[in-house]
Amino acid sequence: MGILEVKNVNKRFGGLQALGNVNLSVAENTVHAIIGPNGAGKSTLLNVLVGKLIPDTGSVMFDGKSVLGRAPYEINQMGISRVFQTPEIFGDLTVMENMMIPCFAKRDGAFELNPLASVGKQTDIVERAEQMLIDMKMIDKRHMHAASMSRGDKRRLEIGMCLSQQPRLLLLDEPTAGMARADTNNTIDLLKQIKAERDITIAIIEHDMHVVFSLAERITVLAQGTPLVEDTPDKIKGHPKVREAYLGE
Ligand code: ADP
Ligand code: MG
Repeated sequence: MGILEVKNVNKRFGGLQALGNVNLSVAENTVHAIIGPNGAGKSTLLNVLVGKLIPDTGSVMFDGKSVLGRAPYEINQMGISRVFQTPEIFGDLTVMENMMIPCFAKRDGAFELNPLASVGKQTDIVERAEQMLIDMKMIDKRHMHAASMSRGDKRRLEIGMCLSQQPRLLLLDEPTAGMARADTNNTIDLLKQIKAERDITIAIIEHDMHVVFSLAERITVLAQGTPLVEDTPDKIKGHPKVREAYLGE
């Protein structure tokens, strides 16, 4: 049994079958990549996992409990945290202020109306956020406006914000999309570091094969909403169906 078990999930958008009988098992403490051409259903699947979309049929179990029908914040509290395709940080706030927000949410279970109002008294939150910035190697950027950072650093901050919630499963939707090669390589190194230092399972949707083959232990190939094949990176590389459907050969 994997920490995440997806069984026979179907999702239609009108006449379009976005997901057709999707089965996926993600083993605990592994990095599992989900690849496939544009429109294959990767983001739709991720949205099902985090409660943003409800599938028409099928089941999704995380750590033995069903996530279906739960609100996204409840699924987050169960231990699933998600990084979006475009960085979701607060550009007007500093790096430190950004990091404090999920720390409040983790402690209090919800955002307060103005979580930054009583910052001075919140020493536990400050300490937690500072520690996370140290872990992310961003402490020297704590006073910077988040909007002024490079794409790679925004992504680094966002991943740190997710980790501050201490998830057991981290979901990433194309975390290196639109990045220059140096930022992409930094993101690969960051994810390797996270994996080495924590008990965490990572499921990553990724277009960039360099990223996939640098990180993944298992790969599922989605094509037209249905898993085509699931295997180790070495087997996936040589798979004729994958070369045909995904690499366009
Ligand atoms: P991927 O992330 O693999 O590129 P998506 O999951 O975003 O693919 O989309 C799968 C298919 O479902 C695409 O054909 C897309 O146009 C369609 N789709 C996605 N979301 C919606 C939606 N909310 N309404 C209608 N069609 C959608
Ligand atoms: Mg997508």
